[in-house]
This record gives sequence, structure tokens and C-alpha cells, in this order.
Amino acid sequence: MSIDDEFGFASLAVRAGQIRTQECEHAEAIFPTSSYVFDSAAQAAARFAGQEPGNIYSRFTNPTVRTFEQRLAALEGAEACVATSSGMAAVLSVCMGTLKAGDHIVCSESVFGNTTALLNNFMAKFGVETTYVKLVDPAAWAAAIRPNTRLLYLETPSNPQMELADIQASAALAHTNGALLVVDNCFCTPALQRPLALGADLVVHSATKYIDGQGRCIGGAVLGSKELVEKDVFTFLRNAGPTMSPFNAWVFLKGLETLALRMKAHSAAALELAQWLETHPAIERVNYPGLESHPQHALALRQQSGFGGVLSFVVRGGQAAAWQVIDAVCMISITGNLGDAKTTITHPATTTHGKLSAEQKLSAGIVDGLIRVSVGLEDIADIRRDLARGLDAVAR
Ligand SMILES: *Cc1c(COP(=O)(O)O)cnc(C)c1O
Repeated sequence: MSIDDEFGFASLAVRAGQIRTQECEHAEAIFPTSSYVFDSAAQAAARFAGQEPGNIYSRFTNPTVRTFEQRLAALEGAEACVATSSGMAAVLSVCMGTLKAGDHIVCSESVFGNTTALLNNFMAKFGVETTYVKLVDPAAWAAAIRPNTRLLYLETPSNPQMELADIQASAALAHTNGALLVVDNCFCTPALQRPLALGADLVVHSATKYIDGQGRCIGGAVLGSKELVEKDVFTFLRNAGPTMSPFNAWVFLKGLETLALRMKAHSAAALELAQWLETHPAIERVNYPGLESHPQHALALRQQSGFGGVLSFVVRGGQAAAWQVIDAVCMISITGNLGDAKTTITHPATTTHGKLSAEQKLSAGIVDGLIRVSVGLEDIADIRRDLARGLDAVAR
């Protein structure tokens, strides 16, 4: 029986892409090999000439990595997937594969910090300009488009504000202007949101986050049509080399098996925590798309099948109060990572977004009292108690 698109999400997450070897292993095999052996000189020549499919060298293809690519492609509903050495390598590969000097990008101003740095410090050096616009201002997106705009780039929900873009509307805007829509689907994963089905052309992932789900490995992926992914992105990747290692691919495969379960648990815990935080006197505002108070709650209901595990909130009293809450935690990890089984807490204004100017912070909503929490899989009562210690002290 072959596993194909007729199967449900959970079945695909457990089984898609696996090819059993003659050893009949049940779990997916790891293939730690840099190159592959040919039957003859003629076969080697045919492989190198691209006349015969098959493995040549693990910078190009590797069986464990291919299993991961096929499984993630099945989950995102993508024709093709290439795995990369990190989420940032996925962003870089999209840029290098689809852009040339003179092209222009319109990008959400609330994207991962290194994505902004990559566009500003490196893509700009090679003649690719970027205009930043507010994620939630469709008129600004339309106004920023130029004749040479090739990519619209966004993350939804955004980090750490948890604002949403309407993917369908963004795709329509891109396509009427001859551009491609790229969506970083890191926060939702395909378990909660499938951007390609809503019209996006490319999805990028940091597999480091929820796809691994246990904070072990760095990796990424690019998904979309065969034309874009196999030709443009993969051609860059096989020549430039930021490919995923087979060991990491195996860890991510194991992560995918529990992705749907974990995203459900993360979402349920985050909603419960968000509702509790909203009632706490030390808190000014809670940002979570699952709350009815979220300005885009209706869009979240329409576009996502769950609200995800990340939330942020503003503590009364600015940085001193925010740091007091963070320093009072005993169980929660003070770290910049997210998407882990362990709950993590971050002060964006002085860490992940510390390099932004005061003006950029203001525009992106990174106020001094803002705290981001990636809600893990511990008991919700313990997470709440850990946060209450600092919050109660601030409220006194
Ligand atoms: C972490 C992250 C990235 C970068 O991924 P790495 O695996 O750290 O390179 C990109 N986008 C988002 C939204 C992220 O959270």
C-alpha cells in the first residue's frame, strides 16, 4: 500500500516518504554517506549527465533527507520540498533561487530579525532592494509594489506581536502584480495552516522550531511548485551547499510524527494561559490570535485550524517589570528559542529585537514591557504558577 494524498494528515505525518531498504527496518534509516557507488562508468556518466535519476552526492540528495522532504511536502500539500541546513538557509535559498540584481522585495516589517539582516546587509549588496511595510496594512503593501517587485515576503502570525496577514488577499495582490508570495509558516506549521492552499507560491520553514519540537537540531525547508522549488531553489542549494544533514533529517522526521498532537496541545495550553493572563492586574495587553480581544480573531478562525503555541503580553511598568517577571521564573527557560516542549520566555526589546532602532521598535510594537512566551508541554498549572510569581509581585 503506498502512502499518498488520500491519507489524512496524521497518517501522512507518520508514514509519508519512507522507503524501506532490504533490511526491512521499521523505523526510518539514517544514511550517513557523503557519496554513492555506481555499477559502472557508464552509469556514473548517465547520473552526472542527469540522464538517469539516482543519488550522486549528499550535497545533492540523500535518502533520509528525501524522506523528510517528501513527508513535509505531503503535509503542506506541496508538489516539491527541499530541506536546508537552517531556517535562514531556506530564506537565503529562496532569495538566491528566485531573484536577480535589480529585483525588489516587499517585506513585512515584523519578520525574524536575521531575515531583515539578510535582506538589508547582503541582498542589498547584490542589487536587490527591500521595502518594509506593516503586516496588517494591505494598502501599504499595494503602494510599495514597483514594476520590478518579484517577491512579497511575510510571516503569519508574526513574532512577537502575533499579528496576522490574510494569505489569500496577499497572494492575490502578488499575482496581479507578477510577483510571488512567500510565507514563513514557522509559527503555525502545516498542522494549523497551509499557505499553499490559500494561494502562496512558496513556504519556508525553520524546522528548528515546532517541526523538531524538542529543541535539538537546526534545519529548514522550502516548499512549493516543482518549477520553483526543484529548478530555482534546489539548483542554488546543490551548488552552494546549505543542505540538511541526514541525522538532522531523521530527528525532524521523528518530530513530524507527533506534530499534529503537539500543535493541538501547545494551542490548548496557550489559549488557557492567554485567557488567564488577560485577567491579571499586572498586564496591560495580551497578544494571542485565539482571544476574542485579538483584532484579527475572525481571520485566525478562517485561516488557521488552531492558534499556535506562542503568545506575548505587555506588563505594566516597562522593562524593569518585564525583567522582574522573567527573573522570577523557576521552571520556564529564559532563552530565545521557541517551538519546544519546554516553555520559553523572552524579552524581545533587549534580545531578539535589541538591534532595532527606537523608531523601528515603536513601529513593530516592541515596547519595553513586552514579554514573549512559547508555551510548552508542561502542566499548564505549573506554567501559570511560574509566571504568577513575578506578575503578582509587579501588581503589588
Ligand atoms: C527561527 C526562525 C527562523 C530562522 O530559522 P533558523 O533555523 O534559526 O535558521 C526564520 N523564521 C522564523 C519565523 C523563525 O522563528
